[in-house]
Amino acid sequence: MNTRYITYGDSYAASKAACDLLAVGVIAIYGPTDPNSADAVQAHCRAAGVPHIQATWRPPPLRDLEIPSPPGINLYPEAVALSEAVAVFIKDNDWNTYTLLYDDDEGLIRLQEILKYADPNDNWLVRRLKSGKDNRQLLKSLKVARHTRVILDCPSDRILEYLRQAHDVKFFEDYMSYVLMSLDAHTLDLQELRYGLSNVTCLRIFDHADSRTTAYHADWKARATSDIKIPRMTHEITVEAALASDAANLLTNSVETVPKDFKIEPESIECKSDAKWESGNIFTEHILTNPITGITGNILLDNSTGERKNFNVEIMELSNSGFNSIAKWNADTGFDYVRTATDVSDLLAEKWQNKTFRVASRIGAPYLVERVPKEGEVLTGNDRYEGYSKDLVNEILKETLHLNYEIIIVPDNGYGAYNKETKKWDGLIGYLIDRKADLAICDLTITYERRSAVDFTTPFMTLGISILYMKPTPPEPELFSFLKPFSVDVWIYMAAAFLLVSLLLHILARLAPNDWENPHPCDKSPEELENIWHIKNSCWLTVGSIMTQGSDILPKGYSTRWVCGMWWFFALIMCSSYTANLAAFLTNAAMDDSIKSAEDLAMQTKIKFGTVGGGSTYFFFKRSNVSTYQRMWTAMESARPPVFVKNNDEGVERVFKGKRQYAFLMESTAIEYQLERGCDFVQVGGLLDSKGYGIAMPFFSSYRTAVDNAVLKLAESGKLVELKNRWWKLPENATKKCVQQEVAEEGTSAAELGVDNVGGVFVVLGIGCGMAAGMGALEFLWHVKDVAIEQKMSQMDAFWAELSFALSFWETEKPVEHSRPSSSASGDMASRASSVLRSAVDLFNMDVFKKDSR
Ligand code: ASP
Repeated sequence: MNTRYITYGDSYAASKAACDLLAVGVIAIYGPTDPNSADAVQAHCRAAGVPHIQATWRPPPLRDLEIPSPPGINLYPEAVALSEAVAVFIKDNDWNTYTLLYDDDEGLIRLQEILKYADPNDNWLVRRLKSGKDNRQLLKSLKVARHTRVILDCPSDRILEYLRQAHDVKFFEDYMSYVLMSLDAHTLDLQELRYGLSNVTCLRIFDHADSRTTAYHADWKARATSDIKIPRMTHEITVEAALASDAANLLTNSVETVPKDFKIEPESIECKSDAKWESGNIFTEHILTNPITGITGNILLDNSTGERKNFNVEIMELSNSGFNSIAKWNADTGFDYVRTATDVSDLLAEKWQNKTFRVASRIGAPYLVERVPKEGEVLTGNDRYEGYSKDLVNEILKETLHLNYEIIIVPDNGYGAYNKETKKWDGLIGYLIDRKADLAICDLTITYERRSAVDFTTPFMTLGISILYMKPTPPEPELFSFLKPFSVDVWIYMAAAFLLVSLLLHILARLAPNDWENPHPCDKSPEELENIWHIKNSCWLTVGSIMTQGSDILPKGYSTRWVCGMWWFFALIMCSSYTANLAAFLTNAAMDDSIKSAEDLAMQTKIKFGTVGGGSTYFFFKRSNVSTYQRMWTAMESARPPVFVKNNDEGVERVFKGKRQYAFLMESTAIEYQLERGCDFVQVGGLLDSKGYGIAMPFFSSYRTAVDNAVLKLAESGKLVELKNRWWKLPENATKKCVQQEVAEEGTSAAELGVDNVGGVFVVLGIGCGMAAGMGALEFLWHVKDVAIEQKMSQMDAFWAELSFALSFWETEKPVEHSRPSSSASGDMASRASSVLRSAVDLFNMDVFKKDSR
């Protein structure tokens, strides 16, 4: 092996060295690494027919340029494929806005190759860095313009300088991502920048798992520590060294594998002469078709271009312990991500261990509330708060990822709405965009608009919009509520029907021969027939029927029975209807049927309704295409005073104070919480949509996957349900707050009826009994008067005699003298009056109509 040392970039010296070597007689020349010098050497080799091997990045050949045969051999990975690897990687990581920084023309070509793969919608910016100069101004302007993703193309020895400058202007910190194009970037000692929390990725073409690499690496390390002191380099193998080793291997292997009849004998060739090594072309072709596995993986060469193809690339990510492989790439197979979810969270924990995560939230029960300190207790830090959000963030950051965090409350306590005029987000979203917080956690709904400004994890809770409304106030119980089942008209018609039917029965009975009966059945040939259907009995029958009691006397005539049947049918229907309606009236009297759904709300103007201003519910109605919701939005927008509130608590209070004149459109989870705690509210209708709450974070947060995985893990383990129950369910020793009496809900069992509900029936009974007692008293006095006349006693004596007998409950028989005064006593005025009265009663009993049966 013959070696010549030349100054880097000195193509004249390279050319001279090549001629020297050719004159000595060589079977191939390797190097140099400087592309211009390599070109000069290649020209001499091609003229002499000697294979030339190089390991230098070369721009892709121009399309029309004819490639000489056999081509020069280049072990450096093909430019297009290398750029493709970077392009696919950034696409895989959702980069659609990025900055490309380069510092030499080759870099620009490499970046151009990347841009060939870019999506037409990608936003990219290309800027040139001045090598060896201060680029802080440029980097600062990029920082101000919120550029966060950078592809940096520069030689490895300038990377650190640029990153330091970026660090100085805070362009190398949290949420920044850098892809370093240099294949030697992984050899850099970036210790001083390791804790800058930017995400740094680079490419490597070694397979460190390969035994050859391991052996070579050990050797390289030993030499690096002893004599070769490479400033600012770790003891990693450089691409140049690895490719030089692979070139030597390729050459020795090619020599060993040449066909037996082919003799490799170097010839001395002068550069100035036209002489050529005759076996040169065959040997070049043999090298091109002789695949070997080197430190940089399989070496497969393209026969026509001499370029290296189908190579493997490892994607390396910087962590506290240096660069770690996160994925493997091959032009044929694409990306293979090698990290598991646990690796990701472990690396994250390691990387962020010194950082205190700023978790933004807002006050609102049950998600986050200020803790009331116990006596003598002074609350500081996160202890000042409690709630679902705090427990959730604790489970994710502390328990799962072992990271520190501090809770920050957003000053405006807002969720996050975009202001078109200021072009800014407020609330939690604004806080994340301004990088004032790393995570935002509360009942923050994932919406399309918010998703375009920040990243969200998978939802930790699902919900929908519904309506919170005040339960109806139970009406004042009414004494005569038993009259309610029928309207006044029906009662009047029923009374009229009762009188008419009774009268009809009476008349028909008088006409019906069958209703004239023998008063003494033992007397086979009675002198008179009797008709019992005088008006009293007729009324008694109709009353007995409608009261479902029946009567012990029944008509016998066809017409009377028909009337009776019809009346019973009428009574059956009326009684059943009354019973059914009475039950419904008394139990569900308080049920309100004014609004049952969002449609009902939209169709009326009396009850006002609103949402939290600027929240997702607000925008749901504002942007909806559904006519009902559009109508609701118009109603809300035009309502005076405004119907929008600052937060859920204010909305709930407004519903409460609104006395059923205000309904609040609220998320079902919050409604659930309110219903669990009080019985004054009711959820009207079902869910109007379906969505979820997610944890928000700035775009490109390196911890996104880890936090997301932690949420999934908590969901699968049932922890999320446990947390929800902890904060939603009322503690066992607590009772619901009910300002008004709970009323029976539709579909549930009927509530008990109180005296207030059925008191009227007692009143009627009482009045009825009172009247009966009055009538009894009158009847008694009338009888006393008769007795006094007949027995020729004073009325007072007769009264006391009759009363004492009536109260002698043990006497069950009454002497006739007492009860039936003799007719001989008639003569005086009183007795005459009495007989006139009796005659009148007899007349009333229609005795005049008695018919002779004979
Ligand atoms: N949770 C909602 C939000 O994130 C608030 C609401 O509209 O009720 O905006």
